[in-house]
Amino acid sequence: MAIRAENPWNPMTMKPPPRLDAAGLKDLAKAASTQKCACALGPCAGWDSMTEDRWPASHMTAVGSLREAHPDGDQAPGSEPTFEEFHPQGTRYESALAPIAPAFFPYNRCDVFACNRCQRVLLRYTEFGGYYVDHRVRALNADLVVDAPLPDAAA
Ligand SMILES: [Zn+2]
Repeated sequence: MAIRAENPWNPMTMKPPPRLDAAGLKDLAKAASTQKCACALGPCAGWDSMTEDRWPASHMTAVGSLREAHPDGDQAPGSEPTFEEFHPQGTRYESALAPIAPAFFPYNRCDVFACNRCQRVLLRYTEFGGYYVDHRVRALNADLVVDAPLPDAAA
C-alpha cells in the first residue's frame, strides 16, 4: 500500500516550504504569537483532529516542513520515518505538554503553517487509517520544542 502525505502547498508555486530542524522550529515558535487563537481552529494544545472543512486553508500559509526531503519528492522504500514517540517525562501522544521533538512521531510527518488571523504557528500531519484519513493539528509552543536525536541516529 502506498502511503504518501498529501501535498499541502500550492503546486503552482513549485517551491516547497523549507525543511526545518528543531532549532529552526524553535525560532519560528519564538517569533509566533502566543495569544489565544481567535479563528476557528481553537486552542489545539494537544493533537486535535481537524477535518478538511474545518481547516481554514485560505488564511494558512505553509512556512516549513519537518518531513525528510526526498529529491524525487517521493518516499524511498524502507525509509518511512519512525513511529517512535518521545515522552521522557511520561507524557502521552495527546498531552498538551508533550515535547515537540522533530525527529520523532508524529512531528517527523508534519508540515508547519502560520495562521494569518491569530499569528500562531501550527503543526499538521495526516494520519492514514484503513478507510479514512485524519488530519491532526497542534499549536507550536516554543517551550516544548526539543532537539532529541533518535536512539539509533548515533550509528
Ligand atoms: Zn488562527
